[in-house]
Amino acid sequence: MTNLYSFSLPKLEEKMLSIGQKKFRATQLFKRIYEKNVTDFDLMSDISLSFREYLKENFCLTKPKIFTKQVSSDGTIKLLLELEDSNKIETVLMRYNYGSVACVSSEVGCNMACAFCASGLLKKKRGLTVDELLGQVLVLNDLLKLENNDERITHVVVMGTGEPFDNYDNVMDFIRILNAPHGLAIGARHITVSTCGLVEGIKKYAHEGLQINLAISLHASNDELRNKLMPINKKYPLNELMDAVRYYEKEAGRRVTFEYILLKGINDQKENALELASLIKGTLAYVNLIPFNPVKELEYNRSDNKTVHNFMDILMKKGVNVTIRKEFGTDIDAACGQLRAKNEK
Ligand code: SAH
Repeated sequence: MTNLYSFSLPKLEEKMLSIGQKKFRATQLFKRIYEKNVTDFDLMSDISLSFREYLKENFCLTKPKIFTKQVSSDGTIKLLLELEDSNKIETVLMRYNYGSVACVSSEVGCNMACAFCASGLLKKKRGLTVDELLGQVLVLNDLLKLENNDERITHVVVMGTGEPFDNYDNVMDFIRILNAPHGLAIGARHITVSTCGLVEGIKKYAHEGLQINLAISLHASNDELRNKLMPINKKYPLNELMDAVRYYEKEAGRRVTFEYILLKGINDQKENALELASLIKGTLAYVNLIPFNPVKELEYNRSDNKTVHNFMDILMKKGVNVTIRKEFGTDIDAACGQLRAKNEK
């Protein structure tokens, strides 16, 4: 059985042609499964009985199952989802004043081994399939519908467990379904992919023709420190990463956001801010400062507020566009860097 949620529209059109159906069937199915959220082929009454039978025999519409659900005091929801092979992943819903944001995982575990991140404490088992990526958003939408309000996911960030560019093709198809007018119809500017800096992925992404936001986890302003915090830097050092960013800006005509976690006494000093400003000079990038979220096994500490604001001031004085990331769900380990699919049942 093939999961119908695993097809982008162009791929579903191809599939329809390959089984002797007309191309328009693909759009017809998209409208049913995404716009109308029909999950039962028998209820697709505008489709001929014989084709419905064919669909039933060959396709399924399965979503990940909710294994546990936690709700934070700030309204953030964290789901532990069970996949068909019983692997588990975490997905988070955050409520901002501008909309509801799904933070989705891209892999089961992560191999990037960043020193400050809980996700890297687990080895990667595998990348998520397109239907598992999308399933996270669909399950959250179903949950919101059950809660009986009009709230729907309006924004998606691929910032959960895993490295999206390590699962490039599936993440791109997932984004195409999110973005498709008869798919979930989420605007490209409401979708953000975050990478730890896989240079080939950034260059490839520059040519996707999508207006999706790109965020890059930077976290250090020199190679010596970044090598320690993010082992991926040994493969793609800062000069290569910055070249890729400039390439992306030129080819895609879009600016990136640099994410920078402030770790007390490690990368939060005045010199670090000055070095960061000169590193990104000449790019159009924004900097998003992230307060470090505690991870039990890790020894890093959060910078105090004064240090954070000093750091921000220095960047601003140097003409850098900078914001501080708002925190969600720290009390249920749902904040940045805290995802790890802990099985709490
Ligand atoms: N692998 C991708 C996607 C994960 S995004 C990437 O690295 O970008 C997760 C974001 O949370 C990244 O910016 C990451 O650096 C940040 N993060 C990781 N651990 C954190 C922690 N303990 N506190 C705050 N942010 C953290």
